[in-house]
Amino acid sequence: MLQDKFGRQITDLRISVTDRCNFRCVYCRSADPENYRPEGELLSWAELDRLAKIFVAMGIRKIRVTGGEPLVRPGVEHFISRLAALGVQDLSITTNGHLLAERCDRLIRAGLHRINISLDSLDPLKFGRITRTRTFDSVMAGIDAAQKSSLAPAKINAVLVRGINDDEVEAFAAFARDRGVIMRFIEFMPLDADRHWSRSLVVPAAEIHRRIDARWKLEPIPHERSETARKYRFADAAPGEIGLIAPVTQPFCGFCSRIRLTADGKLRTCLFSKEDRDLRGLLRDGASDEDLSFFITSVVHEKEEGHRINEPDFVPPSRTMVFIGG
Ligand code: SAM
Repeated sequence: MLQDKFGRQITDLRISVTDRCNFRCVYCRSADPENYRPEGELLSWAELDRLAKIFVAMGIRKIRVTGGEPLVRPGVEHFISRLAALGVQDLSITTNGHLLAERCDRLIRAGLHRINISLDSLDPLKFGRITRTRTFDSVMAGIDAAQKSSLAPAKINAVLVRGINDDEVEAFAAFARDRGVIMRFIEFMPLDADRHWSRSLVVPAAEIHRRIDARWKLEPIPHERSETARKYRFADAAPGEIGLIAPVTQPFCGFCSRIRLTADGKLRTCLFSKEDRDLRGLLRDGASDEDLSFFITSVVHEKEEGHRINEPDFVPPSRTMVFIGG
């Protein structure tokens, strides 16, 4: 079983299947022309299958497929069905929702258990400014499709950035109550391509809690220690749930159970890892499954104790979120 030198069990893997994205969210990607990696640098489906099988044999129980935007890579449903066949206990996907309405049934038939959909504004114009697209209606259709399916309740992720969408906290909470979704607020992290992140742009989870609680009383829901979100239900028993993810103001590294595989085959033990560890090179050099398992074990052993966002010497990683896979 995978364990790091601090005794943390590693059971969760996020697999990025592409670095391409059809959105250009201001807090993630740059407005600049594409700087995607050449196709040949990305892991093929066969390579991803092989690695997934090894990871599952090593004790990974939870896999989240992500990107870039995972739904832009043709064949993602087939990959999900192969992951399901490996017996992954918790199989989910993170998507911007734009292509979801037409793909939802296929994803479910493939064996998807859960879904996270990003939604950073309930105002179509503002949504357009944040994502630099005109896709509000298709994303809402994607959310509707998920809510009508076995994937309900969907987790809806909003990254709040001060001065951009922090005026929508209460509106998002009302959305959770109306639609019965799990509305999750994620603190803005220094992983944006334009390097505009600053502490003053972070909307602390405590503030979000205070504002929602003032309007609709919240009650904490017990959660597993390794879970990223602090979870709350509405005390008046309204549908929906609130999740607060506070990597900046309340880091939860001590119980982290996650590692990440990037679309170009690098293993990352922390979102903020300074170094990528190259699985693709090994794979393409003819490493055996035993060699790969040994490498993974030794990389995981050295997992960082925690991110250093709050340290004076913090340096953001060279890879931004779209190239890591959030
Ligand atoms: N395209 C998919 C999506 O939109 O959900 C999956 C990939 S996206 C990189 C995964 C998540 O990372 C999204 O919820 C996005 O909002 C979040 N994200 C991107 N940049 C971020 C940042 N600088 N700070 C916090 N979250 C960020």
